Amino acid sequence: MAAGARLVVLGKQGAGKGTQCLSLSHHYVVTHVSTGDMLREAVKQSTALGLKAKELMDHGELLGDDLIMEMVSTRLEESDIKDRGFILDGCPRTVEQAKMLADFLAPVDLDLVIDIEVPTSQVLRRLASRRVCVDCGANYSLTARPLINWTCDVCGGEVVQRVDDTEEAISRRLEIYELQTAPLIDWYQSRGQLAQVTGTGAPEAVTKRIVRAIEERRNRKGGRFS
Ligand code: AMP
Repeated sequence: MAAGARLVVLGKQGAGKGTQCLSLSHHYVVTHVSTGDMLREAVKQSTALGLKAKELMDHGELLGDDLIMEMVSTRLEESDIKDRGFILDGCPRTVEQAKMLADFLAPVDLDLVIDIEVPTSQVLRRLASRRVCVDCGANYSLTARPLINWTCDVCGGEVVQRVDDTEEAISRRLEIYELQTAPLIDWYQSRGQLAQVTGTGAPEAVTKRIVRAIEERRNRKGGRFS
């Protein structure tokens, strides 16, 4: 079995983070932790967190750093992650969250941060076409539909357009990305933790590029992370 890893995947909305994180989690047998999925589940269950999160999420706004990092650090304490590591998707989204994450993980920092680069014109096209399963989060699009109507191939759930994939919410999320999340790229670069990978082309080709970047970094570290 491949060695575990502690990874963060960055990229604009629609860059393919969810799809790539799923492939990487299978490849490295490591838990995929998506803050967006955790929050959508909280909204679905109408938990106290879900009730707080819903309106902000629907409008594409970010939740507070403390709230997010409390949710994430609780998840990172669980045993599956302690054993094999994690692939963090959707977090950090601000430099403050990145600092809080580094403090939480100390003394053992992240192995690598991967930034999936896709031009904005392309992510806009992808987001307008994106459809997701309400139950398991599997991704589809207008051109890659489920086999039967809009029923998920994986779990049989209903496949719909995300509430925050409206034109207005998409443009707000991309604006927030530029303002609050893009500065993370320089922040991780200055710490020598960043690998940038081109996210265009077939998903399988992107996964290969990411795995190559991870293995190059692992080899440079003498064959092991952490
Ligand atoms: P995502 O599925 O990653 O696009 O996340 C969906 C929504 O959840 C975002 O638009 C935010 O409202 C919220 N969210 C997810 N992760 C974070 C985070 N790390 N910090 C703040 N808000 C977040």
